[in-house]
Amino acid sequence: MTQATDYINSVAATLKQRDPNQPEFQEAVGNFLKTITPVFEKHPEYIKANVLARLVEPERAIQFQVAWQDDAGNMQVNRGFRVQFNSAIGPYKGGLRFHPSVNLSIVKFLGFEQIFKNSLTGLPIGGGKGGSDFNPKGKSDAEIMRFCQSFMIELQKHIGLDVDVPAGDIGVGGREIGYLYGMYKRLNGSERGILTGKGLSFGGSLARTEATGYGLIYYTNAMLKANGKSLDGKRVLVSGAGNVATYAIQKAEENGAIAISASDSNGYVIDENGINLDVLKDIKEVRRARIKEYVDAVPSATYHEGSVWDADVQYDVALPCATQNEINGDQAAKLIANGAFAIAEGANMPSTPEAIAAYQAADILYGPAKAANAGGVAVSALEMSQNSRRVSDSFATVDGELKDIMETLFANSVAAANEYGEDGNYLAGANIAGFTKVADAMVAQGW
Ligand code: GLU
Repeated sequence: MTQATDYINSVAATLKQRDPNQPEFQEAVGNFLKTITPVFEKHPEYIKANVLARLVEPERAIQFQVAWQDDAGNMQVNRGFRVQFNSAIGPYKGGLRFHPSVNLSIVKFLGFEQIFKNSLTGLPIGGGKGGSDFNPKGKSDAEIMRFCQSFMIELQKHIGLDVDVPAGDIGVGGREIGYLYGMYKRLNGSERGILTGKGLSFGGSLARTEATGYGLIYYTNAMLKANGKSLDGKRVLVSGAGNVATYAIQKAEENGAIAISASDSNGYVIDENGINLDVLKDIKEVRRARIKEYVDAVPSATYHEGSVWDADVQYDVALPCATQNEINGDQAAKLIANGAFAIAEGANMPSTPEAIAAYQAADILYGPAKAANAGGVAVSALEMSQNSRRVSDSFATVDGELKDIMETLFANSVAAANEYGEDGNYLAGANIAGFTKVADAMVAQGW
C-alpha cells in the first residue's frame, strides 16, 4: 500500500467510527474517496497538511429549535440545521431543504457535495447546506410563512454576505425564500445578497429558477458532444417534477429530445408525445398538486404508482431529478437494459454506489451530480454578484454565463480525469477538479 492509500484509509476509518449513524454522509464521502487516491499520490503536501481529515469535518454544524404555530393555534416544534462545511475558497454557499427526512446525515452529505460542486463552478463560493425536518406538504401559506419566520430568527445569527449565503433546495422555492428574506430584512435591514433565489422585484436573478435544469442540459450536451452524440431525437426519462425536472424537460425538448416522463413521490406519468410543460407547471407550480393529475389534462398519457426507474419503457438518456438514492443497483441494471447510453444527475446523489458501479461496468456515459447540477448554485453566485453591483443582468446575459460555466466545468473535469489517468471517468474528473482547487487554497492558508 502506498502512503496515499494508507492516509485515505485512516481518514475513512476515523470517519466511520465518528459518524456511524450518518449513512448518507458516509456514502457521499465514500464515493469521493474511491476516486481521489491518485491526487494524494501526486501531492504529498496535501497529506502533510492533513487536508482530507479537515475536509470531511464541517467547520461548523449548527442545530436549532424551530417552534411555530399552526393554523389551529397549536405550537409545533421542528429541528433546523445549518452545516458550514468548508470556506477555503469563499463564503459558505448552499441551499436549505425542508423535508421530513432531513437530519444531520442528509445535511452533511449535501454540504460535503456542495464544496466540490461550488468549486467546479469556478466562482468564489465555499460549501454549506441547511434545512429542517419541517414538511411543507399540505401546509397553508400562513403556516409556511410562520415557519420560515421562526427559522430565520435563529438562522440570521449565523449567516452574512461574506460568511454564509443560503438558498433553496427541495421544499424551499421562491415563496419560502421570500418569507425568509422578509424576516431577515426586518431584523437586519436590507441586504439583498444574504439569500439567493429571491423574487425578481427584490434582487432575484433572471434565469435562477431555470438554472439547475438548463445547466443540466448544457452539461449533458457537452458530455454527449464529446462522445460524438447529441440529444436530438433522443428519448429522455426524467424523474421529479420540481424546478430541476421542469426546466430540464424544457431545455431537453428545445434541443430536439422527447422527455417522456415526470414523477413525484407517489408515482410517475409517461407521455409518449413529450411532457407538456404548461400542464406540468400548472400542476406543480400553480396548484402544488400531485403528478397523477397530469393524465386528466393529457388523456393519452399514463399514470403509474411507484418509481419511474422501474418503468418498462425504452429510452436513450436518463435524467434523475428527484432526490438522493432514487436509483439502486437493480434499477441501474434496468436502466441499461432499457437502452440508456447516458445518465446525467440533476438531483444530489440520486444513484447508490451499486448504481454507479453498474453504469461504470456497462461503460455508459455518467455525468455526476456535483458537476451536472452545478448550474443552480452557479447562477446563485451570479445573483450575489448582481446584488453587490446593484444591477439586474438580462436573461440572455445570465443564461449565456451559465452555459459557459457548464461547458468549462465539463472541460475541466475531462482535463482533470485525463491528467490522473482516468480518461472518460467524469465522476473522478469532477471530484479531482473540484477538490484540488479547495485543497490548494487550504494549504496556502495554513490552518
Ligand atoms: N440547492 C442547490 C444545490 O444543490 C442550490 C444551492 C444554491 O443556490 O446556493 O446546489
